Amino acid sequence: MKPAVFSYSAPESIEEALGLLAEHGSEAKVLAGGQSLVPLLNFRLARPAHIVDINGIGELSYISSNGSLRLGALTRLTAVEESGDVSSGHPIITRAVSHIGHRAIRNRGTIGGSLAHNDPAAETPALLLALDSEVTARSAGGERTLSAQELVGDRFFETSLGDDELLTEIRIPALAASSGWGFQELSRRHGDFALAGVAAVVTMDGGAISSAALGAFGGAYAARLPEAEAALVGAEAGEAAFAAAGERAAAEFPTTSDVHGSEEYRRHLIGVLTGRALAEATSNTGGENG
Ligand SMILES: Cc1cc2nc3c(=O)[nH]c(=O)nc-3n(C[C@H](O)[C@H](O)[C@H](O)COP(=O)(O)OP(=O)(O)OC[C@H]3O[C@@H](n4cnc5c(N)ncnc54)[C@H](O)[C@@H]3O)c2cc1C
Repeated sequence: MKPAVFSYSAPESIEEALGLLAEHGSEAKVLAGGQSLVPLLNFRLARPAHIVDINGIGELSYISSNGSLRLGALTRLTAVEESGDVSSGHPIITRAVSHIGHRAIRNRGTIGGSLAHNDPAAETPALLLALDSEVTARSAGGERTLSAQELVGDRFFETSLGDDELLTEIRIPALAASSGWGFQELSRRHGDFALAGVAAVVTMDGGAISSAALGAFGGAYAARLPEAEAALVGAEAGEAAFAAAGERAAAEFPTTSDVHGSEEYRRHLIGVLTGRALAEATSNTGGENG
């Protein structure tokens, strides 16, 4: 298939892009790496009248770290995956991004595009939920800060961005020294979208868990798992606590079914993967296993 007819602009600054989005409103679509949008155009599942290609906006591509991390929305997934700043402070991001498709897709795909697309099977939204991230959205009228939850939470292939808004930056807070992370997913083949996955961040106080954040994907939408998180607080790290959290995670996960897996199967996977992610997280607290 070929896309329906559209007009095209290639702005070179954020201001220029915001002007075009204001002018074209709901008729416009932002083009970043094109790894999701171009197939949608080719199948005519998206038929924007105007494309705003942001690839020429160099100021949207950067990685900056001083404990917390700032990622420009146009930063390529490969750049995130290969960044020493990312892997030293937030190795969970390095791991999660390495699971996104294949290398060729990550070479073009961007962190902002992956988040804005908000595919419920994608790694990025659930990961950024678990990391308590926030984003900047800009329009010609100004800018606002949204938590990852406000941007993508409980949404299916959409975000709370307005038609005239551009996602410009993603910010991820520093992990506490006594925290650890785990990232587990299951896909049928390397590079496939996951059937289900879990990102876990835990903070330890001696042998006990003082806080836990769990982001799950592969269901109806990317979701935090608050019941499982609550069950972990104060628990001694170990098989019993991980199994109890896994049961709660499976129960509260917004599961779904399709040709790749039933609701029950995905629920089961989330329970198992939660336990594994927690075991991994509690074994690498204090910066080990980076
Ligand atoms: C074969 C294949 C396998 C894949 N496997 C995976 C996988 O395993 N896991 C996974 O997560 N993804 C996977 N993907 C999807 C892909 O990696 C991401 O969805 C993609 O990288 C999105 O980023 P992009 O920069 O290419 O966005 P684009 O395709 O350019 O845009 C995606 C959407 O986001 C919007 N958008 C982009 N940037 C912005 C911005 N700055 N502000 C506002 N809106 C914006 C666009 O308008 C569009 O609606 C796969 C894709 C392919 C083709």
